[in-house]
Amino acid sequence: MGIFEQLATYGYGELHLGHDTNTGLCAIVAIHDTRLGPSLGGCRFISYTDEAAAIADALRLARAMTAKAALAGVKHGGGKSVIMRPAGEFDRAALFAAFARFVDGLRGRYITTEDSGTTISDMEVIRGITPHVAGFSKGAGGSGDPSPFTALGVRRGIEASVKVALGTDSLEGLHVAVQGVGNVGVNLCRELKRAGARLTIADVDEALVDRVVQELGANVASADAIHRTACDVYAPCALGGAINRDTVEALQCKIVAGAANNQLARPEDGERLHARGILYAPDYAINAGGLINVAEEVAGYDEQRATDKTMAIYDTVLAISQRARDTNTPPHVVADDMVDQILGNQAI
Ligand code: NAD
Repeated sequence: MGIFEQLATYGYGELHLGHDTNTGLCAIVAIHDTRLGPSLGGCRFISYTDEAAAIADALRLARAMTAKAALAGVKHGGGKSVIMRPAGEFDRAALFAAFARFVDGLRGRYITTEDSGTTISDMEVIRGITPHVAGFSKGAGGSGDPSPFTALGVRRGIEASVKVALGTDSLEGLHVAVQGVGNVGVNLCRELKRAGARLTIADVDEALVDRVVQELGANVASADAIHRTACDVYAPCALGGAINRDTVEALQCKIVAGAANNQLARPEDGERLHARGILYAPDYAINAGGLINVAEEVAGYDEQRATDKTMAIYDTVLAISQRARDTNTPPHVVADDMVDQILGNQAI
């Protein structure tokens, strides 16, 4: 597919390419939609097989940010950037300085932050050159680690899903299987344990599994079998694509609700979940806590406000789930429709 064809398919927007000969910077900034405000989204710094893969990643990720911000009531548009990791030796600080000049040239239409492969130190380099960056430690006047906020929002989304699918207000005694106990997963386990849930966990990193077992007590499943756990809620908190053609038929849960981005490998997998009677909490609705937190930093950080807005993820997931149930429509379709309505109500 040609680039303009891709942009038309995804409903874009702007696509910016930045190159710097001295540092070898090859960067992409995708600005999907700015009707709600300047675009905000992380900068990925990973290896890509080729530039087409990097562009496709940026486009897909930025579009999801538009949806996430719209449903969370965050006054930002969807943006994302990608720096293609150079194959050989490179000067990291110089590379990120060149990236910062690229971002600065966009004059605030894109605000960058941390994502896979980037660190707070990289953001500090960027901040030396442009103000259009967020996601700093609390000590540096920022909003700190977003993971506890993401986990809080996921717990609230699970509560809303449980209300609709199981008709109960409490997580007491419910069994939740958590795939991936990294930054968000471990915080989600803490949230769930406090709420009285029973945990089964899996991670490819055994040390992380041990940490949760020792701190909270949990059953352990193997990473390739966690999705088959007979449980109330399956919470994918690892990589994207956890719900796919292979896994969807093996699930033995009533609800899928977790933190991972892009949980549905393909939209058809959302249809399959729905056909099986499993309630799905759309990822970009339930995992917005981190975005809410960093957006508060851009506005002038107030932890209580960030917490309150994250708690309200309950209402969003509840509305999606109820409408899905009442209209017999897959929740991801309902959520997409709600995003279109929110964006359509904005003056262009
Ligand atoms: P992380 O890298 O800290 O944790 C992911 C964990 O998943 C790791 O511990 C990894 O070992 C494990 N893992 C990888 N493959 C696995 C497999 N096949 N089975 C079991 N475990 C596996 O990342 P994170 O920050 O905790 O984010 C988790 C997910 O949530 C990601 O998809 C991320 O994009 C999404 N997310 C994170 C945030 C945030 O605030 N960090 C916000 C929104 C969405």
